[in-house]
Amino acid sequence: MEPRIPFLEVSDAIILSGAENLYWCMQCGLCTGTCPYRLVTGEASEEFNVRKVQRMGQLGLEGFESENCLFACTTCRACVDVCPRGVDIIGNIRGMRRMLAEVGSIPPSLKPIAGSLHAQGNPWSGPRDKRTEWIKDAPVPTFSADTEYFLFVCCTSCFDVRSQRIARSVAKALQAAGVSFGIIGNEESCCGEAIRKVGDEELFSKLAQSNIELFNGKGVKKIIVTSPHCLFTFKNEYPEFGGEYEVCHYTEILSQAVKDGKISFSGDAVGALAMHDPCYLGRHSGLYDPPRELMSALPGAEVKELSRNRNKSVCCQGGGGRVWMETRAGERFAELRINEALDAGAKTLVTACPYCITMLEDSCNVLGKGDQLAVKDLSEVVAEHL
Ligand code: SF4
Ligand code: SF4
Repeated sequence: MEPRIPFLEVSDAIILSGAENLYWCMQCGLCTGTCPYRLVTGEASEEFNVRKVQRMGQLGLEGFESENCLFACTTCRACVDVCPRGVDIIGNIRGMRRMLAEVGSIPPSLKPIAGSLHAQGNPWSGPRDKRTEWIKDAPVPTFSADTEYFLFVCCTSCFDVRSQRIARSVAKALQAAGVSFGIIGNEESCCGEAIRKVGDEELFSKLAQSNIELFNGKGVKKIIVTSPHCLFTFKNEYPEFGGEYEVCHYTEILSQAVKDGKISFSGDAVGALAMHDPCYLGRHSGLYDPPRELMSALPGAEVKELSRNRNKSVCCQGGGGRVWMETRAGERFAELRINEALDAGAKTLVTACPYCITMLEDSCNVLGKGDQLAVKDLSEVVAEHL
């Protein structure tokens, strides 16, 4: 084997791009053993080894830049939670991606996403002036100075026809609970969470600054989000740009409304349902109980647990930009979750994230299990029982 010569200028550049504790890694490999890519087979599973990526970054070596290596990471956080050195593994991966993004070397499948964000303020190539088309015939209030909460609908649920049902369900449930909320509308832009994880820091800061200017101009103080990705970014990343808000995921608001007796449910028994904990609601935000409290309040609910639940939940594979990248059937994390839900005896697999819905529903159909298992956002099950 030929010796490989370290390029410390490259590793310095990676650190300057944000991989601040790259050298903390002592190469124990616990991260690799915990990563969900070890649970599946396929090209990305063979190519991507997060310990090795940290080492290549430390030495400034080339060869980790591909879609199935550096861009395989879904930023699910499972590895971060087990790292004995407290390495910010996702921050390091983001730093490496940022270095590539600055020279235009992001994977080809992600380039149209960046283009759409620049041109339309959303990653789905949806015209900006159609952002509120999800409303259809359901009246949704507009945010004004005397509204308590601004409802920020994830771009996926604004433009993806399947996902629009989530937006309508959340709005219907909030109205039933008597929450004072409103949307702003077409001036809103993507929260930018995914594009920051992809490494395009410049585009993220442009989106964040545009939103903060809009939100502050309207007098927004409290935000309800439909997606845990928006939750993470508004809560943890917007303060860096001067955007300080109280941010809640809709499951927090609705589970509190149940406790306060402001909302109740009726109708047919829900039956056996299980929760897939989204990475950005669970591991990234620590919200495991609100969705379960909400599920338990539904009529005739038999709440099941998947074998890997709460902080051990397995990612749907949609984070970190992967929702826009192809993973072959037979190699998908979501397939594991569908089988776990069936093994748990669930008839409905619920989650609370638009990316999870996309990944899980697709895998359920590809596996031919759609007649045995329904995949729904929790908001949809709630709205069906109002
Ligand atoms: S678990 Fe932490 S210290 Fe161990 S190899 Fe991974 S990043 Fe390095
Ligand atoms: S964040 Fe998740 S997908 Fe990425 S390396 Fe860690 S465990 Fe693997």
